[in-house]
Amino acid sequence: MTERTLLMIPGPIEFEPEVLRALGRQSPSHMDPDFARAFGRALKRMRDVFAAPSGQPFIVAGSGTLAMELAVANVIEAGDRAVVASTGYFSDRMGSILERLGAEVEHVRPVALGDAPDLAAVEKALASGKTKLLAITHVDTSTGVRAPVQELAKLARDRGVLSAVDGVCATAGEAMEQEAWGIDLALTASQKAIGVPPGLALLMASKRAIEAHRARKTKVHSMYLDWGEWLPIMDGYERGAPAYFATPAVNLVAALDVALGHIVEEGMSARVARHDRLASAFRAAWKALGLRLLPARAELCANTLSAVYYPAGVDASFVGRVRAAGIVIAGGLHPDAKTKYFRVGHMGVLGASDVIATIAAIERALAKSGYKFDLGAGVAAAQKSL
Ligand code: PMP
Repeated sequence: MTERTLLMIPGPIEFEPEVLRALGRQSPSHMDPDFARAFGRALKRMRDVFAAPSGQPFIVAGSGTLAMELAVANVIEAGDRAVVASTGYFSDRMGSILERLGAEVEHVRPVALGDAPDLAAVEKALASGKTKLLAITHVDTSTGVRAPVQELAKLARDRGVLSAVDGVCATAGEAMEQEAWGIDLALTASQKAIGVPPGLALLMASKRAIEAHRARKTKVHSMYLDWGEWLPIMDGYERGAPAYFATPAVNLVAALDVALGHIVEEGMSARVARHDRLASAFRAAWKALGLRLLPARAELCANTLSAVYYPAGVDASFVGRVRAAGIVIAGGLHPDAKTKYFRVGHMGVLGASDVIATIAAIERALAKSGYKFDLGAGVAAAQKSL
């Protein structure tokens, strides 16, 4: 079998050759002036991507889970109350992280898998007790559900509650204006719509979040997670004056600088519109093929991935058939439906031809799996949509 495949899972994704070349270069010293400039530029470019002109960016080696911990471990102390607006597996993960920090956690769950929690129920949960934080998963990768982030963040802001948005499967692909929407903690990781191989945790903290960190009564338990250790480092690199706390992932940071440069060059509104256009083409194909989506309603469908139920008679071996056709997609993840659906990532440097190639491979695999449909109907619908 050829080694050449198209990686269409919801992260890691296909990366730009220029980004990958930055990884292959000789590693610079973390104190090198050119590296310091690249790090500083990446921090500044994060403010554009997050639409957070007065935010405090952090770039720390680690995966998305570390970004989640880096966000909440600095504002939550044992005994604090936190509400989780639950849309799937990753919302539950945030709940577990908050519990490990000693928080009292209330999950507000949707009526059914694939739905989002009712806004009135979230409002009620925020009001029942002195709540410190509302956690939101922008796009839950396990369900393909995009939460109504702007509305949820407003509920928190109106009550003086901090909001934390897990944008691991959303940032740089879905619309998000951190400052305008009043979001206190926006986090992501490098390997999805940002477009850099796995290994960097990215976080943007609002002034209110930084104040909440400063007002803590207890120390952050983990030294590596403590903003107090990282703030002088981020500040130093932004001023072009490198400083050491823990060795930065120098090649990944250089690659991030390149990738963020591409994002800023495309422009966030154009980038979000492109993701919307390509996701619409996928949705047109799913409909034409008679496939049902996990998200309960159209407005809950993410633009960064599709979560699609297998039709009757097709099982998870379908993913292997698509792989044999040269396209790598993912199986299910949510424990309630793991074997019942597949996921296709559509974020980052993706173009129309990737969409068509993916749908064509999926059609061939569906046909091989015995599903009866009009071969080519999905591709035709996507072409028309594009
Ligand atoms: N949150 C979301 C929404 C995710 O999709 C993921 C990863 N799929 C994570 C958090 C955790 O990120 P990581 O696997 O990089 O630790």
